[in-house]
Amino acid sequence: MGLVSIEGIHVALPLKKSIKHASHQRTVSDSLIVRVTLDDGTIGYGEGVPRSYVTGETIETALDALETAEIARQLESPSDFETAVNRIAAIRLPSIQNDPRGMFGNAARCAVEIALLDAYGRRFNRSMSDAVRQLLSGQSYLRARPGPVRYSGAITAEGARKERISAWKMRIYGFQHVKVKVGVTGQDDPSRLRRFRKILGSSMDLRLDANEAWAADELLERIAPLRESNPSALEQPVPHRDVERLAELRPQLGIPVMLDESLCGEPDALRAIDAGLADLFNVRLSKCGGIAPTLRLIDLAVQNGLGVQLGCHPGESGILSAAGRHLASNLVGLRYVEGSYDRHVLAENLTAPDITFRYGGRALPLSGPGLGVAVQSAPLEQMTVARRELAP
Ligand SMILES: [Mg+2]
Repeated sequence: MGLVSIEGIHVALPLKKSIKHASHQRTVSDSLIVRVTLDDGTIGYGEGVPRSYVTGETIETALDALETAEIARQLESPSDFETAVNRIAAIRLPSIQNDPRGMFGNAARCAVEIALLDAYGRRFNRSMSDAVRQLLSGQSYLRARPGPVRYSGAITAEGARKERISAWKMRIYGFQHVKVKVGVTGQDDPSRLRRFRKILGSSMDLRLDANEAWAADELLERIAPLRESNPSALEQPVPHRDVERLAELRPQLGIPVMLDESLCGEPDALRAIDAGLADLFNVRLSKCGGIAPTLRLIDLAVQNGLGVQLGCHPGESGILSAAGRHLASNLVGLRYVEGSYDRHVLAENLTAPDITFRYGGRALPLSGPGLGVAVQSAPLEQMTVARRELAP
């Protein structure tokens, strides 16, 4: 059951609301969709979200990485699902010089890995959950069977009125966990958090994401006035270049620290564990290179007593939402889960059926072969910016 073709498709997913950056606004989210075809005609789809400010990748570099990877040779022709899963999990992209953090190519690897798991799942009539369970077999944190997932809500920095509405929505919608973006210039975070805490109530698990906002030297004084709102975790408080400073600062913060931008590959994870830089890891499928590498990072976290958040990339399509669901529904003890925002974020999706989480952020495991959702050809055509046939 060999691989006969790989196509890389650059898509622009239309967003419901524009995402504001310091320098520009964008109303679409760019994804790399990979479409693989097996020799019996079975097709599978995968997705990666190359972001130059996360792993240094662009759509172009991701396509280049796949072009020379000789995936068909790495896979050979697996005759059963278990063999296919083991070979897919072992796929390596050609190593790139000057990549000490082991992250260039992660979005590309994620896209092709998910596409292959989807295709071989369909070919052998097995769910992506079965693949996840095979890779987790023997681990204490594998669930007895796939179970429901509880996703977290998020409040972005948008101005007092909109934020207040957003906080009320989180409460009314019944979320248990809410993440608040902090550290945006011009925002008064201590009073924002007091407001949110009042609306959300004292039992809501409220955590913060600073997206590298603060210099290490100012961190303690920035954090002190936020503690009264009782946040449960603080994500990526300092820029990656200052991350070593967390060894000395973390014990003084009084809030558990989570690494995100500083946690892309195994070298990052090992360094963070060795130097005591973090209490939690934020792993995301595209950032970390797909399901198999993400499971390795989760294992490192668990073995070393760290908590884990399964995160997502805002704007990702239902392909990555589905893959994330297969992971989350088979793991015990994830501290936080993000993703499956589909209908709330995208004006139109690539996949059907709709798997957006429901009331309370609740969602059920997916079944059916492969991803358990199907890519629709009409929206895929519409959203396509460019496509490239790659050497399999
Ligand atoms: Mg983050």
